[in-house]
Amino acid sequence: MPSEFKADLHCHTNCSDGTDSPEEILHLAKKAGLSGLSITDHDTIRAYTPDLFKIAEKIGLRLLSGAEISSEIDQIPVHILAYGIDIESRSFHTFLETMQKRREKRNLAILEKLKAKKMPISYDELKAFAHERTIGRPHIAQIMVEKGYVSSFRDAFELYLKEGACCFSSGIKFTPPEVIEEIHKAKGKAVLAHPHFYKGKNFIKKLLAFAFDGYECYYSRLDPSQEKPWIKRAEEKGLIITGGSDYHGKLKPFITLGASWVGLETFELLSEAKP
Ligand code: AMP
Ligand code: ZN
Ligand code: FE
Ligand code: FE
Repeated sequence: MPSEFKADLHCHTNCSDGTDSPEEILHLAKKAGLSGLSITDHDTIRAYTPDLFKIAEKIGLRLLSGAEISSEIDQIPVHILAYGIDIESRSFHTFLETMQKRREKRNLAILEKLKAKKMPISYDELKAFAHERTIGRPHIAQIMVEKGYVSSFRDAFELYLKEGACCFSSGIKFTPPEVIEEIHKAKGKAVLAHPHFYKGKNFIKKLLAFAFDGYECYYSRLDPSQEKPWIKRAEEKGLIITGGSDYHGKLKPFITLGASWVGLETFELLSEAKP
């Protein structure tokens, strides 16, 4: 009997804040017994080179184009997964370039706040640390640990960088509807990532009103009681139910690749171009 088809639809490489290269993650996926994968780096599709698709084919792994796109409402970050986007889409590339510029401004605002708290990090330092990747708070947190400003990555977020903390800055100001529209223009499907993170009846009501194609109901190693309400909401609206681990390599060693996954039917639904 053939083994069950499993695809992890949420993971990060060193093109954003993960620690494995795109090629390494393909091999890891194969080793973990997965048959399909979507690499969903923050605000970039740089991982998807023609070579990567060739490697995936060679090792017998189905690769679905993806990204995790940042948006905001009420100054709260909302992550939106994009699946099956046309990676050649001109409009999507332009959109991602604008996003990177807004990120740079936001990152500079965070560094200003850290400087005021006597924890200086220069932008050159941050850029050198992050190379060509999508630069974000996890890189800033790692430098804070290296410089001895905090004793752990967790403390960097808890004390300074998490939403509402003193050195947090919002500012990646695309709204969810704007991001969904860009994903649709690039023939992709837009899925609300890790919806379980969002709190507050009114906020959730706002999220439910947006034109998502699916909700990421299965996430990392969540308790089924947390998955249930989102499965129900997706079913009521006839939306696609997706799942993935949010693997980040050594950055979050407690998450393993394949911890959450979807079957063949969902994988194929997401692979179909949006009409
Ligand atoms: P950014 O896109 O630069 O705002 O950074 C967002 C990333 O930071 C997320 O994808 C997570 O990987 C990480 N992150 C956000 N909040 C926390 C937190 N409270 N603790 C640890 N990591 C976090
Ligand atoms: Zn991340
Ligand atoms: Fe996320
Ligand atoms: Fe993620």
